[in-house]
This record gives sequence, C-alpha cells and structure tokens, in this order.
Amino acid sequence: MQTVEQFMLEYLNEMDAMLRKNLDDFIPFREKFYTDDCILGSRRADKLKELIAEVEKVLRISSSEKTTEVITVKTGKGGSTKVRYNLVTANKNWLIQSMDLECPLCVGVEGNTSCSICRGDGWYRILGKRADHSKLPDDFNPLEPPYRRF
Ligand SMILES: [Zn+2]
Repeated sequence: MQTVEQFMLEYLNEMDAMLRKNLDDFIPFREKFYTDDCILGSRRADKLKELIAEVEKVLRISSSEKTTEVITVKTGKGGSTKVRYNLVTANKNWLIQSMDLECPLCVGVEGNTSCSICRGDGWYRILGKRADHSKLPDDFNPLEPPYRRF
C-alpha cells in the first residue's frame, strides 16, 4: 500500500495535469463559441490559469486510529491558505473523504467560538462528507464568493 505521502504527491501531480488538460481542451472550445472579448470565455480561461499557477505542498500528516489528516498549504494569486484533507483507506488504497479550508474569517484560530463561519473549529468544509451542518451560518453557500473557486 502507498504511503500517505506518496498518495498526496500523486494526487497533487494528477490534479495539476488535469487542470492543464482542462485548459488545453477549453482553448479550442472558447475559440469556437465565444468572441475574443467575451467575458465568459476569458474568465474561465483566467481561472484555469490561476489554478494551474497555484502551488500546493504537504505541511503535516497525522494519523490516529480513526482518521488520517493531511494539512497542505496552497499558494497562489490571492496569497496562501491551508487545506485539511481527511483520508480513509478502502481496498488498500487511500481516498480523500473530505476537504476543509482554513477559516477565512479567523484564519484558522481554533477555539474562537464567536467566529460566524467556523464557530471555533478553525476550518470549514468545502468538499466531501459534511460532518456537521449546524456549524455553518444559515446563509452559508460554498458556491458563492468568496468561497467559490469556479
Ligand atoms: Zn473561523
């Protein structure tokens, strides 16, 4: 079985390759369907370029009997942010079950229960199995800015 480090390196490399392929596929699509100055085409292309330019590196891996957690730091146009992945094993492979971003409001300070986004957790979930909806504000929408990535 792969180590967690090997799994994460493969994940980050293949994510990068997939984004580059998306951009390669999008260029002829854009030329076919949008004018050069159409904002729909340029925004999408710019967003893909921005995601490709981001660099994500593993900071810390921790395991307990129940969970394996990987903390990375992602650096890009807007600065850097920490990402927390929760991994599980299935059929002798690692799989990502969920992904949390460092809380943008309190910047990951744990224990700040007055934070309206994370309620003191320091993280908010953006992908995967949602453990606890009650921690998110009623009007929280992960697809709306500033949370939206596309
Ligand atoms: Zn917070």
